[in-house]
Amino acid sequence: MTDPTSTATCAICDVAARVDADVVHRTSLFTVAPATVKVPGWFLLWTNRHDAAGLWDVSDAEAEEFGRLVRDLSRAARACTDAERTYVITFGEHALHFHAMVLARTRDMPPASRGPALLSRGPDFADEERAAAVAAQVRELLGRTRGQRGS
Ligand SMILES: [Zn+2]
Repeated sequence: MTDPTSTATCAICDVAARVDADVVHRTSLFTVAPATVKVPGWFLLWTNRHDAAGLWDVSDAEAEEFGRLVRDLSRAARACTDAERTYVITFGEHALHFHAMVLARTRDMPPASRGPALLSRGPDFADEERAAAVAAQVRELLGRTRGQRGS
C-alpha cells in the first residue's frame, strides 16, 4: 500500500514534477496542465500545495481561485474547441491531493458518450496532436485574459 499523505507516492505531485513544459496555466495556488488522456480540451488542475487532501481542505483563497479558474478554463476550452458543454469532475480516490478535471464535451461526441460515460470513453476521443494544439491555444488565451501568472 502506498501512503496517500506522502508527496513521494502522490500521483498528483508526480504529475506536477513532470509537466513543467506542458503547463497551461499557473497561479500562486493552482496549476493547470493537459489531462493524462490526450483528448482536445481536457485538463487537469491541482493545488500547488500537496497537503490539501480534498475540496474540504482547501483554504478560502484556494476555494475562490478554484471557482474563477474553473470558469476561465471552461470558457477557454469552449472557445478553443467546438464544445457544447464542459464537465468539472473531482473524485480524489487515488490521490489525497486536491485535483479536478475540466473536460470539453464536443458536439461530435455521441449521446451514449455524454455525461458520466464520457470519462471512461476518453481514449476513444484521444488525439494527441490536436490536444496539444488546443492546450497551446488555451495557454495563450488564459495568459491574455488572466495574466501570465494568473490572478
Ligand atoms: Zn501531492
